[in-house]
Formats: sequence, structure tokens, C-alpha cells
Amino acid sequence: MPHPFPRPTKYKLLVKKSATGLGLYAGEAIPKGEFLIEYWGRIISKKEADKLRNRYIFQLTPNRLIDGSIRKNTARYLNHSCRGNCEAVGPAGHVYIQTKKKIKAGEELTFNYGKEYFDEYIKPVGCLCAKCAKK
Ligand SMILES: [Zn+2]
Repeated sequence: MPHPFPRPTKYKLLVKKSATGLGLYAGEAIPKGEFLIEYWGRIISKKEADKLRNRYIFQLTPNRLIDGSIRKNTARYLNHSCRGNCEAVGPAGHVYIQTKKKIKAGEELTFNYGKEYFDEYIKPVGCLCAKCAKK
């Protein structure tokens, strides 16, 4: 069952080529602490998620997850960074991506996907985020 609508985005965001494929970029300067975009999709159970095993599953609670693989979910283009400039926040049942610092126009938007995701999908291939690439 999908959410009825994602919360609308107020800022101009662009999908562009990044170090790891496609990424989401700020089309304009964005202040700190602003709502950016909702990570949105079909709500699925843990059992369904284990069957799907796609990279766009976002866990809300142990048995409530979002399958964010649909193209309409622009937030799926947000890449992982161990030191992201955005973060995922509530409210319950939703994933709102919010800026963690002041963003410059043209900057790539990233957030930390969390340890579980990192260990399963990123660690085996090596993290390409700005922080890890510097090492
Ligand atoms: Zn990293």
C-alpha cells in the first residue's frame, strides 16, 4: 500500500551523474534544517523486503519498510555518505530528508544510510563517499 502522496519538495533538485552512478544535487542554495524531499514508496513487510532484496528498501520499523524503487521516488537518487549533508527524520511512518547543514547550489545531497545497509551493500564493494575516498 503506497503513501497517498509524498510531501512536495520546495527546492530545486537535480538528478545528475555522480561518482557512483546517479545522484541528487541542489539546484539552488538551501539553508540548514530544511525539509528537502520525502523518501516515498510502497509499504511492505519484512518478509516481502527479504524477497525483493532491492537497494531501495528503507526500514521504518522492524516489520514496516518502504520499497522506494519506483522512479517517482526522486529521493532514491540520494547517495550514501558516511558524513552526509542531509539526514533522514520522522514523523512516524514517513521518511523526510532534511538538510543537516547549509547547502550550496550544485552540491551533491547525501545522507548516511545507517550501519545495517552499509554492512550489507556498501562495505563489500568499498565506500566511495567523499570522506572515504580521501583515505
Ligand atoms: Zn564512506
